[in-house]
Amino acid sequence: MAQLEGASAGCSVILKSCEGEIMKIDGGCHCGYITYDAEADPNEALICNCTDCQTLSGSAFRTVAPTKSGSFGLRSGELKIYVKIAASGAARPQAFCPQCGTPIYSSVTGDGPKVHFLRAGTIRQREQFVPTRQFWARSALEWVGGLAAIPRMDTQPAFSPSGSLR
Ligand SMILES: [Zn+2]
Ligand SMILES: [Zn+2]
Repeated sequence: MAQLEGASAGCSVILKSCEGEIMKIDGGCHCGYITYDAEADPNEALICNCTDCQTLSGSAFRTVAPTKSGSFGLRSGELKIYVKIAASGAARPQAFCPQCGTPIYSSVTGDGPKVHFLRAGTIRQREQFVPTRQFWARSALEWVGGLAAIPRMDTQPAFSPSGSLR
């Protein structure tokens, strides 16, 4: 089946989940300057708890959706690239919006079709990308495992004139 062939061609070697369904997705940054489209398998979404992802996302962990190789298309704007050198020595370009700073993806250097690890929060269809595994559990912040126990509010309290929450 042609469709299956296409899906398995998009499988990433490291992540090896090939059964899911590749879907067309689109997204962009917070200010609207960057927009993109791509194809990705929602079943390949993952959480990364590495300390680089904590810093680069400004959060406790990063949620990532790998694209089908070669499917990422930038539709508007021009990305700014920061090349991170991993502990392994591997160069990982990190693309973000130069105007609002929203992280968009990480990838590999060099030419040719590649997998783009989209930052899941920028995908319009992100509700469908439920992570199926967590990387770097050894550096996960302890409280991440107990999120459901933290008291929840539907929105947030108002900021006071000084900017504090009350
Ligand atoms: Zn932006
Ligand atoms: Zn990471």
